[in-house]
Amino acid sequence: MTCVLTLTPFEYKASTAVTASSAKINLLDLNRRDLAAFFIGLGEKPFRATQLMKWVYHEHVVDFAAMTDLSKGLRGQLAERAEIRLPEVVLAQASRDGSHKWLIRVDNDNCIETVFIPETDRGTLCVSSQVGCPLDCSFCATARQGFNRNLSAAEIIGQVWLASQTLGQVSKGARPITNIVLMGMGEPLLNFDNVVKATELMQDDLGFGISKRRVTLSTAGVVPALYRLREVSEISLAVSLHAPDDALRDQLVPLNRKYPIAELLAACRQYIADKPYRRITWEYVLLDGINDSEEQADALAALLKHIPSKVNLIPFNPFPETRYQRSKPAAIARFQAVLMAHDLTVITRKTRGDDIAAACGQLAGQVQARGRRPERRLQLTS
Ligand code: SAH
Repeated sequence: MTCVLTLTPFEYKASTAVTASSAKINLLDLNRRDLAAFFIGLGEKPFRATQLMKWVYHEHVVDFAAMTDLSKGLRGQLAERAEIRLPEVVLAQASRDGSHKWLIRVDNDNCIETVFIPETDRGTLCVSSQVGCPLDCSFCATARQGFNRNLSAAEIIGQVWLASQTLGQVSKGARPITNIVLMGMGEPLLNFDNVVKATELMQDDLGFGISKRRVTLSTAGVVPALYRLREVSEISLAVSLHAPDDALRDQLVPLNRKYPIAELLAACRQYIADKPYRRITWEYVLLDGINDSEEQADALAALLKHIPSKVNLIPFNPFPETRYQRSKPAAIARFQAVLMAHDLTVITRKTRGDDIAAACGQLAGQVQARGRRPERRLQLTS
């Protein structure tokens, strides 16, 4: 069943302003440490942070007046100085296969997308990190939208909050979201601080309590940020490789011109060094006649030989006006077989949510394309 609300993504017109500018601090922007500091600043004990987080993330209560274990005086103070401001869902769709997609308005002109994909043993929420994306990968629908801005930590964790509230109501008890992937719109490592803060809230027991292995950041390979991430986080890493050599990867993922494959692999190796049992997930979109030959599979296997790896093959999801086509099923099977013959763990990702354009690379939200201006693009020449 496809459940589509009365609005379609690109027809929606705002009737009210969502993000009235306000001097109040949005408490969704604060991790546990910052929240404790905030309460200390109010002359309160730090454990108020625990109480507030339980209300917000466990009970889905965002109205201070309903937080009955806080004194009336404190509730009044909170209402004066702070707010819990979520982005607004303007469209919710459910796919025939059980996937959900939300179009979420982050300010008057801009929407992002969040997708939930249920499987038998898990439920994965795919979260956006930027409004649009500055990377311009040639096979990605988001790239065509250009780039507008980074999402705040509140807007990132807000997507999880909104999804878990809706899905919690549908699933009656069982925890529907077991995994979170930062694989929606945007390049998460170009929004480092906000992404890290939001992933802390995803993992915190007082937040959504998801283990570090089940929170995965997907990156096109911002090498210096990978080294930084290692210092502050232990979340899992997925890397969008898509080509076994620099000449082709330069074309598909222009960021490669700045951080070529050898540098990217070194950073990835370092990310999981001294972490037994951790592997890098390599994402590889299969494009007909471009990157799907047996020789390319051999070359890919050679690259990954000394790195604990898992390969996710992603059949290309087409979108209007793309010049690429999905690889033929026989080519996909052959590519997978060659990698497996090299002892690699390989999964070919099933395409989900096709009917609601929720599949990888189809997330296009609604972005005021400031990124079409050259200065909003990432500078690729150093
Ligand atoms: N910027 C990050 C996260 C967003 S993309 C990154 O590059 O990893 C999430 C995944 O979807 C990436 O592996 C991306 O390459 C893949 N993807 C993008 N467009 C696609 C398309 N049209 N079909 C299939 N996968 C696509």
